[in-house]
Amino acid sequence: MRTRRPDVICDCQQCGKKFPVAAPNYDARVRAGYPPHFCSRVCMGMSWRTKSRETRVCQHCREPYFYQPGRTTHGVERKRGTLYCSKECQASAISAAAADPEFVGYTRGRRRDSNGYIVRRRADGGADAKEHILVMEQSLGRKLLKGEQVHHVNGQRADNRPRNLELWNTSQPAGQRVSDKIEFAKEILAEYGLSFQYTTASDVVSGVAGLI
Ligand SMILES: [Zn+2]
Ligand SMILES: [Zn+2]
Repeated sequence: MRTRRPDVICDCQQCGKKFPVAAPNYDARVRAGYPPHFCSRVCMGMSWRTKSRETRVCQHCREPYFYQPGRTTHGVERKRGTLYCSKECQASAISAAAADPEFVGYTRGRRRDSNGYIVRRRADGGADAKEHILVMEQSLGRKLLKGEQVHHVNGQRADNRPRNLELWNTSQPAGQRVSDKIEFAKEILAEYGLSFQYTTASDVVSGVAGLI
């Protein structure tokens, strides 16, 4: 009587779990040049979608997870991709934000535009504007500059608590030459009123923190 060869234990390249593959199957896959990489179809699909194995820290539980990148244009990421390790964490983060007394959301006098942003009257009676921009302009004490965008840290467009808003600058250097990039970096520093005398990264960080 022939004894069955034990299963080959493989590591899933997506989730890291170990999974058994029947020995003859494993041999056939190796012979064909496609050794088993994934524990399941779900992980195989995930790996196609994520393409990278970059990890991020979940905005809610603070655990690292495989991050799904957002849409890119010519290699530049335009959307931030996922922020949470799971749908459960996303739901918990939303309910935690909604429970915060500072959270206002869609209430009277604040309408929701077709993209989910809150639009409201300006305090000075000017034209209606997106609330997250008004909140950011108020905390900066100035209007947004060209190329600046306001992002919602937790991904919730109705959550305009100041701590949930991040200032982004989406302008790009004209070229990829190092000299172009350095010129661009100088322009950015000048735009934010920073000299480029800073020598360490922490100088730059504290300089930027002083602005916000
Ligand atoms: Zn897996
Ligand atoms: Zn999480």
